[in-house]
Amino acid sequence: MQSKVFEIIEKEKERQAHTIELIASENFVSENVLRAVGSCLTNKYSEGYPAERPAGNRGRYYGGCENVDVLEQYCCDMWQKAFHTDYHVNVQPHSGASANLAAYMSVLKPGDTILAMSLDNGGHLTHGSPVNFSGRLFNMVFYDVDASGRIDMEDVRKKAEDCKPALILAGASAYSRILDFRTFADIAQSCGAYFMVDMAHIAGLVAAGDHPSPFGLADIITTTTHKTLRGPRGGLIFCRPELARKIDSGVFPGTQGGPLQHVIAGKAVAAEEACDPSFAEYIHNVVKNCKAMCDAFLAMGYHVVTGGTDNHLFLLDLTDTGLTGKEVQNELDKHGITLNKNCVPGETRSPQQASGVRVGTAAMTTKGYTEEDFVRVAHRIDEIIRAMRQAR
Ligand SMILES: *Cc1c(COP(=O)(O)O)cnc(C)c1O
Repeated sequence: MQSKVFEIIEKEKERQAHTIELIASENFVSENVLRAVGSCLTNKYSEGYPAERPAGNRGRYYGGCENVDVLEQYCCDMWQKAFHTDYHVNVQPHSGASANLAAYMSVLKPGDTILAMSLDNGGHLTHGSPVNFSGRLFNMVFYDVDASGRIDMEDVRKKAEDCKPALILAGASAYSRILDFRTFADIAQSCGAYFMVDMAHIAGLVAAGDHPSPFGLADIITTTTHKTLRGPRGGLIFCRPELARKIDSGVFPGTQGGPLQHVIAGKAVAAEEACDPSFAEYIHNVVKNCKAMCDAFLAMGYHVVTGGTDNHLFLLDLTDTGLTGKEVQNELDKHGITLNKNCVPGETRSPQQASGVRVGTAAMTTKGYTEEDFVRVAHRIDEIIRAMRQAR
């Protein structure tokens, strides 16, 4: 039977081949990840956990799980290896958002207080936005950033003392600086809160040693697998071994049904790749390229939130240009450059307009871009922005 779907996929393949992809949360997976995700494992139901699971919650609710049992356990082992950790790992979350939902539900009750970073300062929707389950289920308190856009650790300490949160969350979607996990952990300990890290964006940097590791400091660590980790779309949850049983039941049966074994296969391939020395080299290049591109914008007089970057992304604050993030995103799209509008600290526009754009180097570094290529793209973006301003 002819399917319209494959025509669409061909068009998308073309688009991905011909655009300059600067969306900080995207990447290009290997052929092996694609093969795994496109495999017959999608046919298999496997609610529950492998029989060899170290914590409770062992066993499956369906027959015929002998192969997926081996696969899921192997996937867990490989992610522990990739992060050099003996933390317990759950590889079933369907996405980063599902991982966060399951993590919260494992250790919190609705109404409990979470101290986190707000969406407009760089946090994620699932970190307490009022339009998300997190903001509707929990009492959210947000710590602030200072005038430059850096997290104000004194504010974290003060708010933690005031609001006595059940959980303190570190992690962001649009934050270009090192996260001080040690100080967060100290603060959490002094107020008896769980400390959770959502490393969705920076997980690849953590694996490669280009960002301090939260392992040993955080009680729970969630991540996506499709951003800097360059795996299939999905989530992971790591936790201290004593929380294993709670986390596992928070995922299944707490918040999900059957796991996606084809995606778990893709995650296992991505974990193997992350263990290869070439992965650390790739991540070092992502960071080096990001700094080069960010420096090029600074040299052209652009305002970069926090004045620079330590990781794979940075935020251009376009307030001075009079252009909105949305206008710049749309115009760049016409020129084959893809990125996303983003709020900036102290945002005065709606999130649909936004005063900034987020720029990331993980995807194009996968395609082989070097520092010179990224600097060239920075100059091209500047030309486009200048033309837009002139047309005003
Ligand atoms: C991307 C992201 C998520 C959510 O991931 P999805 O897979 O899109 O649900 C969660 N937390 C942070 C910090 C993220 O950047």
